Amino acid sequence: MKNLRYLDNVSTLVLDDEKCVGCSLCTEVCPHAVFEMAQNRALIVDLNACMECGACVTNCPSGAISVSPGVG
Ligand code: SF4
Ligand code: SF4
Repeated sequence: MKNLRYLDNVSTLVLDDEKCVGCSLCTEVCPHAVFEMAQNRALIVDLNACMECGACVTNCPSGAISVSPGVG
């Protein structure tokens, strides 16, 4: 998503790919296409697009994602 950007280099989003169970829910709920699936694991492909909404954290069944809203 090129024209709806948040601030660069401030997102607190962290993905622990060891905990990822490959459900792909984060790719479905993220409004800014921050994640993609690769080899049955989520990848952060556009960290700077994250606006720390928390939808991925809420929906991840394995606690693989964390984010601390509050910068913006
Ligand atoms: S916090 Fe929101 S914008 Fe950031 S990766 Fe998760 S769902 Fe996407
Ligand atoms: S929601 Fe969590 S478990 Fe599912 S693909 Fe994303 S990071 Fe992995």
